[in-house]
Amino acid sequence: MSQSFALLGLAAELTRVVAEQGYTEPTPVQAQAIPVILAGRDVLAGAQTGTGKTAGFTLPLLQRLSAASPAAAHHPRRVRALILTPTRELAAQVEESVRTYGQYLPLQSTLVYGGVNINPQIEALRRGVDILVATPGRLLDHLQQKTANLAHVEILVLDEADRMLDMGFIRDIRRILALLPARRQNLLFSATFSNEIRQLADGLLHAPAMIEVARRNAESELVAQRIHPVDAWRKRELLTHLVSSGDWRQVLVFTRMKSGANRLAEQLCKEGIEATAIHGNKSQPARTRALAGFKAGTVRVLVATDIAARGLDIEELPHVVNFELPNVPEDYVHRIGRTGRAGSTGEAISLVSIEENALLADIEKLLTRRIDRQIVPGFEPGQPPPQLLTAAQAVERGGRDGQGKAGTQRTKTSAMPPARPSASTPARASQALLPNAPRAPQSARAGAAMPALFRSPTRRGS
Ligand code: AMP
Repeated sequence: MSQSFALLGLAAELTRVVAEQGYTEPTPVQAQAIPVILAGRDVLAGAQTGTGKTAGFTLPLLQRLSAASPAAAHHPRRVRALILTPTRELAAQVEESVRTYGQYLPLQSTLVYGGVNINPQIEALRRGVDILVATPGRLLDHLQQKTANLAHVEILVLDEADRMLDMGFIRDIRRILALLPARRQNLLFSATFSNEIRQLADGLLHAPAMIEVARRNAESELVAQRIHPVDAWRKRELLTHLVSSGDWRQVLVFTRMKSGANRLAEQLCKEGIEATAIHGNKSQPARTRALAGFKAGTVRVLVATDIAARGLDIEELPHVVNFELPNVPEDYVHRIGRTGRAGSTGEAISLVSIEENALLADIEKLLTRRIDRQIVPGFEPGQPPPQLLTAAQAVERGGRDGQGKAGTQRTKTSAMPPARPSASTPARASQALLPNAPRAPQSARAGAAMPALFRSPTRRGS
């Protein structure tokens, strides 16, 4: 039995499950959110994945629903709490948390998201639920078909509201809000606070309790961060080298684009490293399978885009690799938050090419510190890609590697040792990553300044 959770006002059915989960202390967001939510107040919380925010709103939500109507099981169930999330994965995880934390309470929940057959969802809604976890688009489908009814919602949660706006859900959200009863409790969770989030919060929340917890960032002693400066064209080779030589078994790799994620996963597979990509274009069963394989250890490398990775909760993930730096510095913080979670240590490695200098500078500004650089021997930056070599240089490079082949061929197989730095190639390693390198376009650097969440807005890049 967890005494400290009980002190926050949680009932025995909930402190019991918390203890069974092995949580001994509430996290900061839980310590702040649980009492005010139990008191029925609206909440505006600045907290991101990894802070324990899900339990922070789910535990008091469950308690309020069960306290208000302990005999709910005798009535036809009506949706009394609605939790909206940006992605299917996050929705699934939140609903799993609702089930876990609510296992000793007579409350029912269900999950509604797109990309899968709607009929089982209709059936579950028809049977009656107390708590509905949904992504906005599919929920609107149900509302239009009148297979869901929100007229009895007492508590609304917008989880990762910033990401929902980033994904263009604002109109859907407003249409859903219009269908809710006016009297209700509203909880808005967001990692960042743009003007759009502020506007949404202003129209939605009544005298909210403001909760801001420390961002999971470089201060997390549990995450060792490192940068490997490398030429862009050798990143994949370096990744293969790191995974193989370090015998990494579970690696989450971030790329910027879906196409890049697919390509990288395919190439890794060809090289004998089990890899799969997870992104919004994949069908839901494919995404679920990919994640399950990764968790079970059959997939060694999961390649993800930022949006797809949002909300992934993989415990004790040892390695996160930024194959490309994100355009928005805050996304770097989200990404590295995937490792070193819940008390375990982790390693976040970024493969950074000279073209990414400006993005790196913005990230370091956000973290207010410099991340360690380590050049991996054999991967010194400053070498031209093989297709740019003159025939003579190619022969020279091939010969020096002991392969006697043109450089273009060596990129095709990772079995070959990496090229040595050549005396004839300019030693640009030290020049790489200098601040006077060309800057990224302004749009890529938006949101660089990161003032306290509730004071001044941060702009997000697109
Ligand atoms: P979240 O920020 O909600 O995605 O939660 C991140 C992770 O922290 C999940 O794996 C939770 O199971 C775990 N967690 C939540 N609350 C606690 C707690 N009080 N102590 C330890 N771990 C927790």
